[in-house]
Amino acid sequence: PSPTTRAVTPVSSHCPYCSLQCGMTLTPREQGAGPVLEVAGANFPTNRGGLCEKGQSSAELIDHPERLTTPLVRDHREAAFREATWDEAYDRIVTALTVAQERHGRDAAGLFGGGGLTNEKAYQAGKFVRVALRSASIDYNGRFCMSSAAAAATRAFGIDRGMPFPLADIARADTVMLVGSNPADTMPPAMRWFAAGAERGARHLVVDPRYTATAATADVHLQPVPGTDLALANGLLHLAIKHRLVDAGYVAERTSGWPAVRRAMRQYWPDRVERITGVPVAVMERAVHLLAESRATMILSARGAEQHAKGSDTALAWINLALALGLPGRPYSGWATMTGQGNGQGGREHGQKADQLPGYRMLADPAARVHVAGIWGVDPDELPQPGVSAYEMLDRLGTDGGVRALLVMASNIAVSAPRAAHVRERLAALDFLCVSDLFLSETAELADVVLPCAQWAEEEGTMTNLEGRVLRRRRAVEAPDGVRSDLEVLAEIADRLGRGAFFDREPRAVFDELRRASAGGTADYAGISYERIDDERGVFWPCPSEDHEGTPRLFQDGFATPDGRARFHVVHHRDAAEPPDDEYPYRLTTGRSRAHYQSGTQTRRTKALLDAEPEPVVDIHPDLAARLGVVDGSDVSLRTRRGAARMRARLSPEIRPDTVFAPFHWSGVATINDLTNPALDPASRMPEFKTCAVALSPCETA
Ligand code: SF4
Repeated sequence: PSPTTRAVTPVSSHCPYCSLQCGMTLTPREQGAGPVLEVAGANFPTNRGGLCEKGQSSAELIDHPERLTTPLVRDHREAAFREATWDEAYDRIVTALTVAQERHGRDAAGLFGGGGLTNEKAYQAGKFVRVALRSASIDYNGRFCMSSAAAAATRAFGIDRGMPFPLADIARADTVMLVGSNPADTMPPAMRWFAAGAERGARHLVVDPRYTATAATADVHLQPVPGTDLALANGLLHLAIKHRLVDAGYVAERTSGWPAVRRAMRQYWPDRVERITGVPVAVMERAVHLLAESRATMILSARGAEQHAKGSDTALAWINLALALGLPGRPYSGWATMTGQGNGQGGREHGQKADQLPGYRMLADPAARVHVAGIWGVDPDELPQPGVSAYEMLDRLGTDGGVRALLVMASNIAVSAPRAAHVRERLAALDFLCVSDLFLSETAELADVVLPCAQWAEEEGTMTNLEGRVLRRRRAVEAPDGVRSDLEVLAEIADRLGRGAFFDREPRAVFDELRRASAGGTADYAGISYERIDDERGVFWPCPSEDHEGTPRLFQDGFATPDGRARFHVVHHRDAAEPPDDEYPYRLTTGRSRAHYQSGTQTRRTKALLDAEPEPVVDIHPDLAARLGVVDGSDVSLRTRRGAARMRARLSPEIRPDTVFAPFHWSGVATINDLTNPALDPASRMPEFKTCAVALSPCETA
């Protein structure tokens, strides 16, 4: 494909990848003059001109030779794809959705969305399922990303905004502890704020089973056994109580629930916590004094602590520590979670989750149903009740009571879901699968219909970054002929289902409706317009009216609970859902590497990124490698109760000897999610991606 350029004037926009949403200047080129787009870092408040290699190479996605530019269909499951018109593709989709619902009930048709969708698309997806399909079957890959932290923040603070303060505040904090977060690899431009803090003399602590690139910049590295962060947080709180470091005035004035937590912490005496976590008591002592004795302290959590079957309780344990030290709402202080996906924040605010409506309202709340139904022009009683979470939906695909016809947008679940081989089997058991994507992803390969969608630099829309700042993505080039926006696709399918009158196709019109739907909700966008975003370089929600300035910092005057107080919660350590045993004696943990992103659909097709990281490697401590007879650079087989994978070994003293780390960006024999455990957190329904029991052995042939 060879998109024609629309203009040669530079366009301000944002990166297609992670939640930092770095500001970019996109300059279209005339045809025949090299790449169709030139990308440069812009002086935006979060990245100040910086871009990582993923952002720098993002122009490669625009006119990539593997880009899909026409719908693909197949006449039966074993047949090869053939090109089709949009009319034929739509006919097939509408027929399949209708037949599934006639045969198996309304909930047999559903949609699986993504945290990379713009706010407008996430909103449209939620409304499409509830209004056009009148189905309960929707959830999205953010369930695999942010749900534990979101559940914890909602319970403790009454609101879930990942960072309740601007990213740049990190530079003003005196002490920052990162828990299960590795921004030096995952969002390198964010490190400028840590570096600025360090220049002022700030102290940084990193909690991670690996000595990551971020840990290498820290003053203190705590290296716990994967899945023991909750015990570590409780152990630090025990020490804070013991050393009289608790901010009693703050606790009395701004919180509730402290006496029960204080009592519960008696059992987290330091020797016991050292036995559970592997973190020496002396290191815990140093950490708690650094956290408690600075003027401004932040505790920043991420997936390493949260992607567990006890992820919500783990996030609550760190929030307990932050509250006891009097941090949330104080200048340059508090607890926050660093969202990962590009629209990980906005993606969870507008109704894409199984249990939510726009404005972060709950679908089961009668008042929320009346408000949103009024905006949508439907009867509140027509709205379905909450559906099941992402993995639960995938686990039941093609079964009685499960989804039979599924639309997938912005998600490659064949690679990114836990127990992915099982998920691929379930996808194959569907009566009908339609996937919308830029490329023929591993999930699209299983589909009956594949739709080529427009991408970031080809369309307008808004994203909400990790700070809760609403941003605009702007069109810099026209999409190739034959490619359509997911916004338009959903409206067109709705039209063919006889519900088209309820749906707009233009991003601005959808956003204006989203604003009205969100008004009065927790994530209130009512006062945020495209013009304000342009003028103010983004607007922080909540912003309830056009004369409201937006809210960069939350909790200064109170929390979003009925009485304005934050809530402590008693939470206790428990072992991983699948601890090591004789058969599977080690712990597997997974995560991101520097050059790749998510399931790798885009980054595995980007030359600059493949050159930087051409293949996955599994990190193994040299002592463990010696016991197993594994040599550096040789192939290793990894096996869990759910599946096997094969990767090259990288011997590294930077990881615990009882743990191995593998990236989840790869497919084929290196699909590490074939091994991961779908044990779910009871509150958030987050799967336990971050630890399971694994066996390793050298492969016979290198
Ligand atoms: Fe893009 Fe994130 Fe890299 Fe910034 S840090 S350039 S948003 S991938």
